Amino acid sequence: MNNINNTTMAGPWSRLELWKKILLGMILGVIVGAFMGPQAELLKPIGTLFINAIKMLIVPLVFCSLVVGITSMKDTRKMGRIGFKSIVLYLGTTAVAISIGLVLAAIVAPGEGLHMVASNPDAIGKDAPPLIQTLLNIIPKNPVGALAAGNILQIIIFALGLGVSLAMIGEKGEPAVKVFESLAEAMYKLTALIMKFAPYGVFGLMAWVAGVYGIDVLLPLIKVIATVYVGALLHVLIFYTGTLAILGRLNPIRYLKSLTNPAAVAFTTTSSSGTLPATIKASQEELGVSKSVSSFVLPLGATINMDGTALYQGVCALFIAQAFGIDLTSADYLTIILTATLASVGTAGVPGAGLIMLSLVLTTVGLPIEGLAIVAGIDRILDMARTTINVCGDMMVAVLVAKSENELDTEIYSRS
Ligand code: ASP
Repeated sequence: MNNINNTTMAGPWSRLELWKKILLGMILGVIVGAFMGPQAELLKPIGTLFINAIKMLIVPLVFCSLVVGITSMKDTRKMGRIGFKSIVLYLGTTAVAISIGLVLAAIVAPGEGLHMVASNPDAIGKDAPPLIQTLLNIIPKNPVGALAAGNILQIIIFALGLGVSLAMIGEKGEPAVKVFESLAEAMYKLTALIMKFAPYGVFGLMAWVAGVYGIDVLLPLIKVIATVYVGALLHVLIFYTGTLAILGRLNPIRYLKSLTNPAAVAFTTTSSSGTLPATIKASQEELGVSKSVSSFVLPLGATINMDGTALYQGVCALFIAQAFGIDLTSADYLTIILTATLASVGTAGVPGAGLIMLSLVLTTVGLPIEGLAIVAGIDRILDMARTTINVCGDMMVAVLVAKSENELDTEIYSRS
């Protein structure tokens, strides 16, 4: 996915960055749809092709990138306590982030009143099994069956088990790890290729949506953006600062100040992996996190910690449920939290990765995947916020872990 934004061929259209093309596709789609009215339904198949291509990616992409995500943590064992603390904090903060997203989206209700109808209503909101059943079913009796049926939670569990085992057997696991690494790379490439088609797919779907539902669909999208940004601010200004003050007994103002550079890089590049040098520098030089902690905890965070992405998934999942008039049960909410938290381990820290992972969350609770194309038009704007939060979260955890290990230079930290 690294080269999602690559454009090599000449010509003004091909020189345009992908996200700008998608945004243009969305705007043109809305205009054309508004003119064509219900006849815009004719353009929908272009979108359906794109949606099917995304669906094709989900199972192999999630499986391979999760196995690779886990095996990349193999140093964790060497790092023992530090690794354990980091993983617990990373997963815990991610679960909080997605809960904030869900609560805010429930309050703002950005999708309320849209009354959209999915193309395959039978499959929607399918009799979700009770929570206890979901939890019992989480372990696949037959992993190949889970892969074939596209049962995401079961796939995640099997990928976690396989990844951990491969990491544990060390040298013997290396050939298989290489295979998964190479398959994951290929899936990223395939994702990038399919994403090149996104502007047209988004055009087709937005034309259909605007033609059938009118341009009133734009206001809810603005509400989605506002909800994600407010959630992002709350997560940093209240949750991160609160956690630092309470768990770390540290002055959070210093932490907030140190975020300036990494946050600016994250906001503009929308890649937490690309922001890593800035994150490491700020953590060491401005917060006093030791080299040994920062060089382990931060790269791990850039790979597995995605609070902003999780928050965004909570908002978008609920938005899509509201837009299609689907009531979610409390078991659905828990499933969303569980899936998004586990899926964040397999989300690459590159632009647009969260959008693909959203398809996974939607599939798990049986929400219509068409909703994906509606938010795809504004994805870059949302990606800027979520990547920034992903990076701020990595730094918060690095400070906490360093403090608990006596690896935090408090003199540097308190220098204002
Ligand atoms: N762009 C995000 C990141 O690099 C991932 C995402 O798309 O949510 O952290």
